[in-house]
Amino acid sequence: MSEMPEESLNESIDQRLEKITTKALTAIEQANDLDALEACRVAYLGSKGAFTQIMQLLRTVPKEDKPRIGALVNEQKKKIEDRLEESKAVLYEAHLSAKLSSESIDVTAPGRRVPLGHEHPLSQIRQEIISIFYSMGFSTVDGPEIETDYYNFDSLNTPANHPARDEQDTFYTNLGPHVLLRSQTSTVQVRVMEKTKPPIRVIAPGRVYRNEEVNARKYPLFHQVEGLLIDKDVTFGQLKGTLQAFIKALFKKDLNIRFRPDFFPFTEPSAELDSQCPFCQGKGCRTCGNRGWLELLGCGMVDPNVLKEAGIDPEIYSGFAFGMGLERLAMLKYDINDIRHFYTNDLRFLEQF
Ligand SMILES: [Zn+2]
Repeated sequence: MSEMPEESLNESIDQRLEKITTKALTAIEQANDLDALEACRVAYLGSKGAFTQIMQLLRTVPKEDKPRIGALVNEQKKKIEDRLEESKAVLYEAHLSAKLSSESIDVTAPGRRVPLGHEHPLSQIRQEIISIFYSMGFSTVDGPEIETDYYNFDSLNTPANHPARDEQDTFYTNLGPHVLLRSQTSTVQVRVMEKTKPPIRVIAPGRVYRNEEVNARKYPLFHQVEGLLIDKDVTFGQLKGTLQAFIKALFKKDLNIRFRPDFFPFTEPSAELDSQCPFCQGKGCRTCGNRGWLELLGCGMVDPNVLKEAGIDPEIYSGFAFGMGLERLAMLKYDINDIRHFYTNDLRFLEQF
């Protein structure tokens, strides 16, 4: 090397630099993915790369040539780096779009079916009953399930010695001698009468509790819907018309109804309402026990004492009330033979509705 003229040595470095740069640019051009490109970068600009090794020769360049050769090295190195950046951007774009298209969704493919839940039969019939009474101008009211014996009994004209107050029928609580789980939704009627000036037109759907042995017909928890209408000059004929319209809407049939005298402490007169059996049209079938009639609900004219107790003047106002059990109506309508089905959460039962 020492015999070589300086000029020739410098030229040689120039040439080698340009040659290695050309090779590097060609290799970059040919790299067809990001991994290949990274391999190029390491092969030329890595710490042991071809271009880096050429740069080591700078040390052998005479002092006066160093600025020129140094500038040339920087210029070539920048060419390689710029080309690497450009290629990287292009390859990254290609990589991304390949990835996206491999993950894309075929919008024409059939969807996967998600199993749908649905409403419990009691919720269905509850909603149906609410809608029917809405259409007749009734609104829905709610009240507490933990009640005092005043609202559950006294205010409803149920005297202290009435058998319904017996512990065998009512769940008393340890919250105090007068605190119980309501045994009827009539409690809500009293609360509404206390707070609202007539006219009143409400239904109160809700849970009630009775201390009863569990069997196919009875369960200690069940649901009632009570209705209350108070206005001037309310008659038993209006009660009859309202309930007849309700039964027609519920069973989607014109059915005869009949009243049988009954007794409830808070209505006078009181009656049990029977409807012609919607399943046999009165001819007799299994559902109606061959009687041709179904006992549907209890009703009556609100006892003047109940109105007075709630602060409504019975000389001016009168009203009617009715109450029905949701379980009983659902059992009739859907032909269910055991009340316990509603509470066992057995999907084989629930999926039929
Ligand atoms: Zn029948």
